[in-house]
Amino acid sequence: MIIVSNRLPVTAKQEEGSIHFVPSVGGLATGLRSVHASGEGAWVGWPGIAAEALRGTEAAVRRDLAGHNCVPVFLSDRDVRDYYGGFSNRAIWPLFHYFTQHAAYDRSHWEAYRRVNERFAATAAEVARPEDAIWVHDYHLMLVPALIRDRLPEVRIGFFLHIPFPSYEVFRLLPWRQEILDGLLGADLVGFHTYDYVGHFLDAVHAILGRGNVSGNVEGGERAVRAEAFPMGIDYVRFRTAAEAPAVQREVERIKGHVGGRKVILSVDRLDYTKGVLERLEAFDLFLTENPAWRERVTLILLLVPSRTRVEEYRDLKRQIDERVGRINGRHGSVGWIPIGYLYRSVPFERLVALYRAADVALVTPLRDGMNLVAKEYVASQVEGDGVLVLSEFAGAAQELGEALLVNPNDVPGMARAIREALEMPKRERGERLRRMAERVRGHTVDGWAADFLAELASRDGPDRAPQPLAGDDLERLVAEYAAAETRLLLLDYDGTLVPFAPTPGAAKPDRALRTVLARLAGDPRNEVAIVSGRDRETLAAWLGDLDVALVAEHGAWVRERGGAWRATVARDAAWKERVRPILERYARRTPGAIVEEKAFSLTWHFRRAEPYASRLRVPKLLGALRDLAAHLDLHVLAGDHVIEIKAGAFHKGQAAAQWVEREFRFILAAGDDRTDEDLFGALPAGSCTIKVGGGRSRATYRLPGPREVRALLARLAGGRRRR
Ligand code: UDP
Repeated sequence: MIIVSNRLPVTAKQEEGSIHFVPSVGGLATGLRSVHASGEGAWVGWPGIAAEALRGTEAAVRRDLAGHNCVPVFLSDRDVRDYYGGFSNRAIWPLFHYFTQHAAYDRSHWEAYRRVNERFAATAAEVARPEDAIWVHDYHLMLVPALIRDRLPEVRIGFFLHIPFPSYEVFRLLPWRQEILDGLLGADLVGFHTYDYVGHFLDAVHAILGRGNVSGNVEGGERAVRAEAFPMGIDYVRFRTAAEAPAVQREVERIKGHVGGRKVILSVDRLDYTKGVLERLEAFDLFLTENPAWRERVTLILLLVPSRTRVEEYRDLKRQIDERVGRINGRHGSVGWIPIGYLYRSVPFERLVALYRAADVALVTPLRDGMNLVAKEYVASQVEGDGVLVLSEFAGAAQELGEALLVNPNDVPGMARAIREALEMPKRERGERLRRMAERVRGHTVDGWAADFLAELASRDGPDRAPQPLAGDDLERLVAEYAAAETRLLLLDYDGTLVPFAPTPGAAKPDRALRTVLARLAGDPRNEVAIVSGRDRETLAAWLGDLDVALVAEHGAWVRERGGAWRATVARDAAWKERVRPILERYARRTPGAIVEEKAFSLTWHFRRAEPYASRLRVPKLLGALRDLAAHLDLHVLAGDHVIEIKAGAFHKGQAAAQWVEREFRFILAAGDDRTDEDLFGALPAGSCTIKVGGGRSRATYRLPGPREVRALLARLAGGRRRR
């Protein structure tokens, strides 16, 4: 696995002329660290220092980074200024957060973005092998998927956007909107935090590129591309364990002592105009004005982490916040009470967790936020289990944390009311709401997030999964192997494989030529020939029963060996559940509110309590996934009122074939045209010759266009026709 992101998980620091590396901070670095550490892959990114400062030490830096499985992309001061500070943070960041007035569309910044994206793609393509998966991250690198695809057409590419994808009306403002979409569609899988973002992306793809989609699968183009929601989680155990540690407990006591036993409202953000800090302060101001009884009884701790301090807008915002804090403290404070405790710095992890644990209320009110991890970290750190989360409905996290007090961050009086409601909420209700949120945060960890994304990426059919045409050298080799083998098994589907589809099922009767070739094959003592069909016993027996071939009817429910009688295959086991349950559970994990229920002969996916928007997108996709599997395993899928039920049906062709496969033939050939034949292919040992008849993806190794070509092949094997 190759990870590609703007920053590496380690950052180079230069001190007194020497360079050393420290772990990078931020959700992406911490979230992917375990994925990176577990594999033998590489991480491609910028080491955090401009190339000018590294001059002469590049080789050493490269070597040191190799020790961390990292591969550097060196960026000059100008690159950092124009690609990172410029296009990424002055065009994409504001636009994607709906701050259209802050967005600057500078052509030289765009050029830098393109140039730097090229470099990331080139570096990733250099380290990747064709069988690798490449996972590209975030808004700095949206052109990279297509740029890698140009170099490595076969490789699997995933992309995840960590910020919102805006609605089409906002996205279309971007002069380079088409280039950005083309870049993203170079991936096989494009992931977002929420279904809203998925919807916005698909709208844009439709409106700008004219490519529609079927439940998230983008139509048109040369390759399948899928858009899907993967809400990012946190390392729950890390926060929980830290919050319960004695040292943190002591720190909590200290904090409570400092605020004199008052209620604590906590606010934690990177300083950014998207976070809604000014509006939040205004709401706190109004709350104190409207609720004099709460004066002296509550303290707001405002923790702002410095960010992008070189950008003018951020410095401006900092000044405004400083002023507003001063004004509120001046207006409402007294000698013994300062309403707002203001910290402008980054705090160590344990201190942060202590703040989370000590807070009676967390005020998380961004104007826009892709996800917002602070909300989840607060929930995880609530050891006493009764803190109240006030959360902006414009944070991605609001989609999962519906038990929070949801607010519109532009509605200052509404936020002021929510602050009061949070402070006055009965203990029982606080506990109940928090418990449900904590369960969800615990169940959706960052490791689970990465695993879900990678599982979906791995399941994407790459171009490598298209069968090869059976012709030329491959065909000659197959014929030679057949000729040389002392024992051979031929498993042949009937309809669509040996005969073309006919207007009525009865009209597909075998013609003389087919019966002749089958008879000749069956007459060779080295051969075992089985017709593996979905048809009923009577038809097969009437049409082919006089030949010396084995028959499999109803997709494997009945088997008639050569010279034997029909027998029903062994009693059905529950193995299918092991295949279906993980799929249902995966979809349930990604659809808050959905649950899986198991009964003796069925599995049920309930989504009555799921968010309607999520179910609308999810249910067709789940049905699609089940439909494939159901055909393979012969299951019945029933879509009912807010439930999907899966029951066992009849047997499948792969199981029926197993009894012959066990006898260890030297040469095995299987041919089939539809989904039920995929099981047959799947059940055969490696090295078998599997042939998909007709178009479409398949597990088979080879492809033949239709029954005519299958029959020509069989005739050749039977020695009935010589090569011209
Ligand atoms: N955080 C930090 N140092 C601090 C305070 C917070 O590293 O002093 C972390 C916090 O734990 C969280 C991250 O900063 O993981 C902020 O992530 P979020 O998704 O809330 O916002 P973003 O900064 O990505 O916009």
